[in-house]
Amino acid sequence: MSNVRSMPVSPVPRSTRKNPPGGADHFRHALDAVQVGVLTFNRSLGVLFANKRFAAMLDMDIQPNPGVTTLTDVLDACAVFKGASAQQVLEICLASIAADEGGTGMLPMMVETGERTYAVQASRIADDYWMASFDETTERRVAAASAVQLATLDTLTGLPTRQHFQDRIRHIMVLAAKDEPEPALVMLVDLDRFKTVNDTLGHPIGDALLRLVAKRFGFIFRQNDMVARLGGDEFGILVTPAPDQETAAKLARRIVDVLGRPYLIDGHLINIGASVGLASAGRDGLNYDQLLRSADLALYASKNAGRNTFSFFDIGMDQRAVARRNLEIDLRRALALRQFELHYQPQIDLDRDTLVGFEALIRWNHPERGLVSPLDFLPLAEEIGLIVALGDWVLREACQQAARWPEEVAVAVNVSPRQFDDAGRLVGSIAKALTASGLPGGRLEIEITEGVLLRNDADVLTALHQIRALGVRVAMDDFGTGYSSLSQLHSFPFDKIKIDRSFMTDRGDVDGQNAIIRAITALGVSLGMATIAEGVETSEQLARIRTEGCTSVQGYLFSKPVPVSQIDQVMLDLAARRFALPLS
Ligand code: C2E
Ligand code: MG
Ligand code: MG
Repeated sequence: MSNVRSMPVSPVPRSTRKNPPGGADHFRHALDAVQVGVLTFNRSLGVLFANKRFAAMLDMDIQPNPGVTTLTDVLDACAVFKGASAQQVLEICLASIAADEGGTGMLPMMVETGERTYAVQASRIADDYWMASFDETTERRVAAASAVQLATLDTLTGLPTRQHFQDRIRHIMVLAAKDEPEPALVMLVDLDRFKTVNDTLGHPIGDALLRLVAKRFGFIFRQNDMVARLGGDEFGILVTPAPDQETAAKLARRIVDVLGRPYLIDGHLINIGASVGLASAGRDGLNYDQLLRSADLALYASKNAGRNTFSFFDIGMDQRAVARRNLEIDLRRALALRQFELHYQPQIDLDRDTLVGFEALIRWNHPERGLVSPLDFLPLAEEIGLIVALGDWVLREACQQAARWPEEVAVAVNVSPRQFDDAGRLVGSIAKALTASGLPGGRLEIEITEGVLLRNDADVLTALHQIRALGVRVAMDDFGTGYSSLSQLHSFPFDKIKIDRSFMTDRGDVDGQNAIIRAITALGVSLGMATIAEGVETSEQLARIRTEGCTSVQGYLFSKPVPVSQIDQVMLDLAARRFALPLS
């Protein structure tokens, strides 16, 4: 490490320059004196300031160019951050910018660089400025690691621990002669539905179940194979020497079969399943980390394939994981860089013959790919949990927008089942979006899909009632697909049923479709719920749904979803059209 210094990288932003205690120098000296590395940056990730401790601790070897240096440049110039750890720091910073959108505070994240570990935390400090702090926790980590090493057996199941498992694999891989291409086979096993057992029957039963699972492994593997508990409901098995592919498949099938048989604990009959991922040392990984990553990707493939099955690692999994990971990074960045926008599609009331609302539909304005459809990124956003912050943004943005419309025009916002994981939080977000925009609750409608109710969760129903108590209407989206059933409509007093657009085709069994639409509208009438037909594209379809008694309609016939800039025009166009008259 060369000389240690503090770096004014670009002019300090006006908002932070306002009356710093004792002047800007004083402020900088103070930051230089602290024992934590500090870095400040703006929304476009331009670096403004780094204190002395930052440069010293992270072996930074550049003199940043004022106003030009970005966070990526700084990370590139820090000898200790390479590849994954630099990416992690970048993501923490991006997450803090994104979190600011949702107003959540960030907890410190551990970033490991090989020899050293840092607790990294980023938060907003002024209007458009953020600060990241870096605290080295290496010594603390080493102490904790040796404590773990002492305990090589898991106290609950009596199986070897992750540490022990790791040591053994490392040992084997070092010892394996070069001419022994596959010295060992690793299997990762994850229990399906274990969490449900734990949550519904309680931890003592969950613990007893894990002990029984450990015992059953004993029926499958020999003494010199190692079965370890890696944590939670995850187990790792090391088979040496590696059996041939066929035998490996047989073993994996046995795991799925044996662990999947019912368990009887304290009078409860418990059914769980197991997913397995397999990877061979040597072929699928030259060191412990690579090998475990391969086995993990294979495990992930098994879960994706519907669980209760096993998969061998293959190289395609790696490529897909990289593509997915890139999309994930892009997505996280997109929220911070404000690349999302909402388009709005009008909803028309057929009785009153007027525009009554717009549905807000998200688009990703990707710098290279252009407008990306929600169907291409929402599933991943849901999987990685980003949907929560994204959903909050959609709510805030849609309410702000609707507050500018005539007061008889409402806005409908789609809410994903994942947003109900923390149902209380969702209610809070909705209330906040209303307060911040000044939009009356009666002008907001949320659309949920059956996935929300399938969970049969008391918290979800409580939240839905709280949402209704805010005056907000609740609609059941895409009705008629999947498992939609009468019982769902009975479980909550929905304001509206949205009939899925798959019933709107002109081909195939049109009579059958009409009969379904008729049945749903009749159901709506008897339950006191409005019905809206989605995806109406032609005047024939409009005539059909009118005959069947739908109360409102949405579809390309009236307008595609449009950006904010075209909303006024759509309102004017619709006001000039008479919908009650058959359109020619
Ligand atoms: P959805 O809520 O059922 O929205 C209706 C979809 O049908 C929209 O697709 C809309 O553009 C499309 N559509 C409307 N009229 C017609 C028509 O006449 N013909 C045809 N062929 N299509 C029509 P989009 O915008 O691609 O959205 C797809 C789905 O993504 C939505 O289905 C919704 O489930 C989800 N989604 C969109 N925005 C959000 C959001 O902000 N949050 C959440 N959680 N989900 C969203
Ligand atoms: Mg919808
Ligand atoms: Mg729909």
